[in-house]
Amino acid sequence: MSTPAVITTVQAMQQQSDAWRGAGLRVGLVPTMGYLHQGHLSLVERCRQESDRTVVSIFVNPLQFGPSEDLAIYPRDLDRDLKLLEEYQVEAVFHPPAEEFYPEGFSTYVEVEGLTQGLCGAFRPGHFRGVTTVVTKLFTAVRPHLAVFGQKDYQQSAVIRRLVRDLNMGIAIVVAPTVREADGLAMSSRNLNLSEAERRRAPGLYQTLCQARESIQAGERDAGRIVARMRERIGRELTDRIDYIEVVDPDTLEPVAQIESAVVIALAVRLAKARLIDNVLVEPASS
Ligand code: AMP
Repeated sequence: MSTPAVITTVQAMQQQSDAWRGAGLRVGLVPTMGYLHQGHLSLVERCRQESDRTVVSIFVNPLQFGPSEDLAIYPRDLDRDLKLLEEYQVEAVFHPPAEEFYPEGFSTYVEVEGLTQGLCGAFRPGHFRGVTTVVTKLFTAVRPHLAVFGQKDYQQSAVIRRLVRDLNMGIAIVVAPTVREADGLAMSSRNLNLSEAERRRAPGLYQTLCQARESIQAGERDAGRIVARMRERIGRELTDRIDYIEVVDPDTLEPVAQIESAVVIALAVRLAKARLIDNVLVEPASS
């Protein structure tokens, strides 16, 4: 058990990575915004299995937060994160200060079109541009062979896959399953912002997704009907501030009306201070 080295400059990170790569070692990256939980740690575990050297980046990326979003209250605690990582054999934590990553005059952005328009993209203008820009910068700093992302942020994983493919980055993207609390709520640093009453009701989101999955597996093919039932239950039990509930194609993220092959059911809702997202991938039973 040892505390991972903390690297704070791009140059030092690149030198370290080049040294590893020169020695023939496979470098893996787990990008995070910190305040780590078991969901993040499962990605670290997966990364360790698939690489020789694991880098966890911890960077709360101001570019991906809108002006009225929760950047100011996003939880941060580097010492706590480093302690949690002690048990995982992580060789480095990349933790650049915002001024190092976005120095004065910074004016280059990376944007994936199409895939970023719907779902969260429709409610968080500029969010995915912030994500794809920071991930590109993390990739050029860490120079990994592979990077691990969570299915929890399904749209993000689809967008990153497209980014890597379109720009020929040659980095393998691994998408790991969502880790949940015992009651089914998807783990998220944002769950901290839930009131007690909201926290008690929040597992209803996943239950609603599971019900929808079961109805598809039982033969339901009409996405409109599924979404209407989900809206009704979430509106009644949790919140009427529903950003979206959609049944989409897993690759294109286009809405699906009639379910004939695998789909993703994705949702985002707003509570008092938190915005929660979740999704399930569903394979309809073959008839
Ligand atoms: P974040 O720190 O929220 O930006 O998340 C960093 C990475 O962890 C992203 O790839 C997320 O998809 C992933 N992640 C967040 N929550 C979970 C979870 N509950 N299970 C699995 N992965 C997660």
